[in-house]
Amino acid sequence: MRKDAGNLEYVKKMNRVNILNIMRENQCISRQQLAKHTGLTPAAISGIVRELVAMGYIQETGLGKSNGGRRPVELQFNPEAGYLVGAEITRKRTTLGIVDLQANPVIVTGAQIEMADPEAGLMALVKQIEQLMNTVGIPERKIIGAGFAIPGLLDVRTKVIKRSPNLGERWLDVPVQELLERYFKIPLFIEHNANAAALAEHTLGKGGETQNLVYVNLGEGFGAGVILNGELVYGSYGHAGELGHTVIMEDGPLCNCGNRGCLESLYAVPALVGRANNELPLYKKDDDGLKQIWREKGEVTIKDILVCVSEVDSYTWQLVRQAGWYLGIGIANAINFYNPEAVFLGGILAGAGQVLMEPLMESVLCHAFPVIARATRIEISTLGRDAAFYGACLGAIKQLFNIERAGIWSQTGIG
Ligand SMILES: [Zn+2]
Repeated sequence: MRKDAGNLEYVKKMNRVNILNIMRENQCISRQQLAKHTGLTPAAISGIVRELVAMGYIQETGLGKSNGGRRPVELQFNPEAGYLVGAEITRKRTTLGIVDLQANPVIVTGAQIEMADPEAGLMALVKQIEQLMNTVGIPERKIIGAGFAIPGLLDVRTKVIKRSPNLGERWLDVPVQELLERYFKIPLFIEHNANAAALAEHTLGKGGETQNLVYVNLGEGFGAGVILNGELVYGSYGHAGELGHTVIMEDGPLCNCGNRGCLESLYAVPALVGRANNELPLYKKDDDGLKQIWREKGEVTIKDILVCVSEVDSYTWQLVRQAGWYLGIGIANAINFYNPEAVFLGGILAGAGQVLMEPLMESVLCHAFPVIARATRIEISTLGRDAAFYGACLGAIKQLFNIERAGIWSQTGIG
């Protein structure tokens, strides 16, 4: 192809994606308004709209308001022109589902998938996704993208997981994208789970009101996703935001990163559960709620901790309050570094609510630069457990409609 012909094709492709993106952001819009937005001629707009209507991406919805002349035909983006599959991977439980092109859920569910062996785990995930597609009856050709959120040190350039202590010791240099590409012949988006959750908070949650936010996942680890000026902060390899590995106790317990005394090694969910199971046998108050559960079952889980947390002065209440105080130190550091407008807390431990939040806020005020701390909102995320799942899907959609990459065209065969 001649160079200028190549450029022409590129410009055509860009115009189509540009129009689709305008349509995605506007509920209803007419051809005339599209021409005004893009600077393209009415004839060019008509041609592109005809093509996009034929492909199912745009629908005509009726007549809009007149500005003196004929009433214009209103156009609307059709989010059901295509679908995406997505998953948030953790060691034992994976959230997976199918969403439309605006991340509205078609189906979202949880599956017990053992991820200790990377290849076997990912293969089991692929099988579950295939089953899900059969269940809802969406044909394979309608699935045009996929997003995956995964914990660990993900190299953003190569999409290789360098290490993932939370998934297990066999997760060393695992080429996640390459492995998934064996099964999926569609554009893939792979993101660290805390980053994915930050993306969801920014797009769907209360974080939409701000361009600068930190999302902290309080789960197996304490990963943070940071959004500054509306964009995720990656660092040189994509490893920015490892808040859980802030050292708060020199010579403290060994952390799965290899250092000692990291916040995560003391107060992330496995540490809290481990500590409760070690201490409860020696705990004196036999009428304590968590101690009673321990006596009945022989061990307690994070769910038991969340059930007992509001019992004032109980073992659990004190344990979670202490976790809140030390987490506050980590968050104070993040606030000093990034000066976000808001910090959102998600993950299973965020379910402890005010018992965790009160000491955490107090600690942030004690440990961050007071003027900065007072100007920062700290809230529990409203997105709940599936934040990273939705973030992975949103990232995949963003990538699909990115004007440079325009993965959408490779899926439609036009372009
Ligand atoms: Zn560590």
